[in-house]
Amino acid sequence: MADLTPLSDIGEFALIRRLQQKIEHRQPSTVLGIGDDAAIIAPAADHEVVVSTDLLVEGIHFDLMFCPLRHLGYKAVAVNVSDIAAMNAQPTQLVVALSTGPRFTVEAIEELYAGMRLACEAYGVDLVGGDTTSSRGGLTLAITALGQVPAGQAVRRSGGKPTDILCVSGDLGGAFLGLQVLEREKQAFLADPETQPELGNYEYVVQRQLKPEARLDIIHELRELGVTPTSMIDISDGLASEVMHLCAASGTGARLFSEFLPLANPTLEAAAEFNLDPITCALNGGEDYELLFTVPVADHAKIKNHPDITVIGHLTERDDAVNLITKGGQAVPLQAQGWTAF
Ligand code: ADP
Ligand code: MG
Repeated sequence: MADLTPLSDIGEFALIRRLQQKIEHRQPSTVLGIGDDAAIIAPAADHEVVVSTDLLVEGIHFDLMFCPLRHLGYKAVAVNVSDIAAMNAQPTQLVVALSTGPRFTVEAIEELYAGMRLACEAYGVDLVGGDTTSSRGGLTLAITALGQVPAGQAVRRSGGKPTDILCVSGDLGGAFLGLQVLEREKQAFLADPETQPELGNYEYVVQRQLKPEARLDIIHELRELGVTPTSMIDISDGLASEVMHLCAASGTGARLFSEFLPLANPTLEAAAEFNLDPITCALNGGEDYELLFTVPVADHAKIKNHPDITVIGHLTERDDAVNLITKGGQAVPLQAQGWTAF
């Protein structure tokens, strides 16, 4: 570990130059990236620009004890791309603001950027600027993402209509169980640093926590199927609170069926081991970064055979509230626990 460079050895400007050297551009709309006072972007004609920002604070949103910096970089980009995808837009550029404490080295920040570059490549996004400052505490990472969508095609939370079908991509609850596994291993490690982490059986759920993917692929596939969702939101805080947000914005109620919720086998196995109800993990767990969206009943045939889209229920009139229908046919009003910031 002798070769690690304290940030103070090279300074802010040299750090930015080092980070900049490895950055490539892929978007035709990127005119100028890092190096001037601001980036220049030329949006395509007849498109609207969408913009979203996310702030990640060490000790609140991530724990570097079990989240490697490369993974953190990847995830920080993926969660921003997920917000842009949830507007039915193509992500195009990112700016990254970074504040780091004295315990971070140049190599550590390069690891973080290696993860961000991987995600930029995966989603075709250009990193075009940022800001760098020192902090007395831990690491804080703020990412702002820009995206483009043909004018009028952005999908809001508010467009859902009673009878629209409620769909989700992928499967739910895995990221929360991955976090439980990582927390358990952390406690075991703190109790006895000699213990080796046992993640073997939990690869899937741990990966769901550490390396979530934004579902940009679903946006493209829906377009190919000729389906435009009437409303959409990404699932960052757990299905329950996202359904409530979508219904509140759309002025509807909803019925979702617990037996239809997509749960992967490794998620079911991990839930059993932790004595947790997998349905509760899907409803209140969070960080799955799947898409929740509605389509008109008339589009059901177009999506019903898609292997990675599951119909979980439908919207109803507002007065019906948001209900989970259990296997036994009982209607349970949903409580969104989600995640509270304060
Ligand atoms: P200013 O003083 O005008 O804010 P900076 O020296 O902070 O200029 O930034 C110089 C250039 O480097 C700008 O183009 C900025 O966007 C970019 N930059 C600064 N920090 C970062 C970072 N952490 N990641 C990416 N680009 C950065
Ligand atoms: Mg600056």
